Amino acid sequence: MKRIAIFPGSFDPITKGHVDIISRAVSLFDEIIIAIGYNSAKKSMFTLEERISQIEATFSDLPSVSVQTYEGLTIEFCKKVNAKYILRGMRSEHDFEFERSIALMNTAMNNEIETIFLVSKAEYSTISSTIVRDIMRNGGDAKQFLPEALH
Ligand code: ADP
Repeated sequence: MKRIAIFPGSFDPITKGHVDIISRAVSLFDEIIIAIGYNSAKKSMFTLEERISQIEATFSDLPSVSVQTYEGLTIEFCKKVNAKYILRGMRSEHDFEFERSIALMNTAMNNEIETIFLVSKAEYSTISSTIVRDIMRNGGDAKQFLPEALH
């Protein structure tokens, strides 16, 4: 049985923090699907198409990493792609509280799915897509937080 993980998030945009978590998880899974969750009522900075191409360009040299989009429950998407693992990054105790609740709720709904956490490297632990968007909106240079494909 292939070990398939999904890495769900908005990736609006993908940052060096996300890239670090995915790169370190590559050896743990046969396949990692970066799952861009979207909500048609929510406005994003980058379109789904832009986010897909940013992610594809970033991981072009890692064949076991791919990208898909989904709307609705993450556990339903897991079922659809046959993934038993949800990969998440852990930056802080703030992430911990939030992630713990989601992981417990997901397990309550489907106990075959395990959430796997990787702790963010110190140098990436303050990066968030929200702050990167704020920098960009205000005309700042966010390059240092973003993978090459977004430079
Ligand atoms: P959302 O807030 O919509 O879940 P994100 O795309 O920000 O979306 O997060 C997806 C996952 O990436 C989460 O597990 C989050 O903790 C993780 N993540 C985000 N930024 C970083 C970072 N700088 N370092 C490590 N993990 C991160």
